[in-house]
Amino acid sequence: MPQETGYDPELGNKFVFVTGGVMSGLGKGITAASLGRLLTNAGFDVTAVKVDPYLNVDAGTMNPYQHGEVYVLKDGGEVDLDLGNYERFLDVDMTSDHNVTTGKVYQEVIERERAGDYLGKTVQVIPHVTDDIKRRIREAARGTDVCIVEIGGTVGDIEGMPYLEALRQFSHEQDEEDLLFTHVTLVPNSKNGEQKTKPTQHSVKELRSIGLQPDILVGRNPEKLDDDVREKIALFCDVDTEAVFSNPDVEDIYHVPLVLEDEGLDEYVMERLAIAEDALPADERSTEWRDIVTRDAEGEVDVALVGKYALEDAYISIHESLKHAGLEKQVDVNVHWVDADEMTDEHEERLRTADGVVVPGGFGARGTRGKIDAVRYAREHDVPFLGLCLGFQLAVVEHARNVVGLEGAHSAEIDQDTPHPVIDLLPEQYDLEDLGGTMRLGAHVTEIDEGTLAERVYDATECTERHRHRYEVNPEYIDRLTEDGLTFSGHAGNRMEIVERDDHPFFLGTQFHPEFRSRPSRASPPFVGFLDAVMERADVAAGTEVTQ
Ligand code: GLN
Repeated sequence: MPQETGYDPELGNKFVFVTGGVMSGLGKGITAASLGRLLTNAGFDVTAVKVDPYLNVDAGTMNPYQHGEVYVLKDGGEVDLDLGNYERFLDVDMTSDHNVTTGKVYQEVIERERAGDYLGKTVQVIPHVTDDIKRRIREAARGTDVCIVEIGGTVGDIEGMPYLEALRQFSHEQDEEDLLFTHVTLVPNSKNGEQKTKPTQHSVKELRSIGLQPDILVGRNPEKLDDDVREKIALFCDVDTEAVFSNPDVEDIYHVPLVLEDEGLDEYVMERLAIAEDALPADERSTEWRDIVTRDAEGEVDVALVGKYALEDAYISIHESLKHAGLEKQVDVNVHWVDADEMTDEHEERLRTADGVVVPGGFGARGTRGKIDAVRYAREHDVPFLGLCLGFQLAVVEHARNVVGLEGAHSAEIDQDTPHPVIDLLPEQYDLEDLGGTMRLGAHVTEIDEGTLAERVYDATECTERHRHRYEVNPEYIDRLTEDGLTFSGHAGNRMEIVERDDHPFFLGTQFHPEFRSRPSRASPPFVGFLDAVMERADVAAGTEVTQ
């Protein structure tokens, strides 16, 4: 959002640091992103930095089952899924510089040491590592009004120590009113339903022992915190009672900004950062977010997501994209996970009763047979189909095998001995060895053929979407593949980017991942097109017209 408030960024950025206490998985990232949304609504230019204290350089080689989805940025950065939440909540595009990891920091410090940059000094965590951390945070914040910095993990983790030390140093280097320390913590219920403050007290004590005093405490409990609980937390943790906020459970994460606004968190933060006077007056603040996320659904549909991870976080951007399309069309999208690895009766039933089928991206052989079966089912039964990345590739494999009759056709990634490698590395990729950082990543332009489903979906003859893949449709097979109803309607040079069928109500596959650009206010075109077809099949009327 353009700056409209007269606040001068040259005066220096404001930072809101967000740490977590007691345990992970409290929704610290959503709390931080929600605060960012509210500051954006008030007219400020907001960005975010996610600090991941693990030693990996990036999330690229991490298993989605442990960490959830690997999110891809436009510059090709493979990052923690929290960055996806920030992009969706703030409606900004970020770069890899907004994900600081211990791997990146140490790599830089060690490279500089090898290059002789430290002039014979002993290289140490303080100051060299902490200096690099501060540099990264300041650079990512440059040019914006407020930067929200979320420290991953929980206070007390060994890996997090250098970051907390860096934050402590910040408070000596910048004016008090430029920094705000927010601690998101658990306030559990006792057996008899009492809200207990002791874990919060302990975690604040831990923070204070490393020299950090929180300014704001956000207590996570299923309900709002009782007034006497807030007072007790304030007293024991040495913060103002007004600085203790509730963040109760809500049915939808997109409602968290609304709850925090009702709690007055945004006003308090702006007051403490001395930017309240620069904010748009309350009645002129953007309400677009509230309008979008509180729209009533006028129907519901069932979509089968055929994946190999029974973990919602492993496909979070797809879930969110379906939700965004649902917000646009005013329909609730129920996503039913279908285990591609084990097509039990229960999962076959889910597939059979779905109004649409999504086959997501993935790596490796596990679950491919189930995914190919799901493509076949959707093709043969005219069920709307959306294939993403590996899902696109397997749609091509299914067609090659079952329509063209190329027996044993497969992706060379999965079956190196296939007689028909319809998906393969391009010749220029044969020499790749490292698995880290060798993929085609980030935003690339796709040219879209006129008169195709893809053109109708995008309402354009070009789109720019994010990629994360190594394999491609094998150019040698294109002539044979494009008989019998299948068309490649999107291309980037000799790479096939979009596949569709002209003998089917809605069959679309993309080599790219449109889910990484979907936002609540700007649903992704392939998802909206897919949902249109799903609604038609489910006989649910559209709430609103498609606007793209
Ligand atoms: N494994 C496939 C490839 O590398 C697809 C990747 C994906 O689905 N993200 O090309």
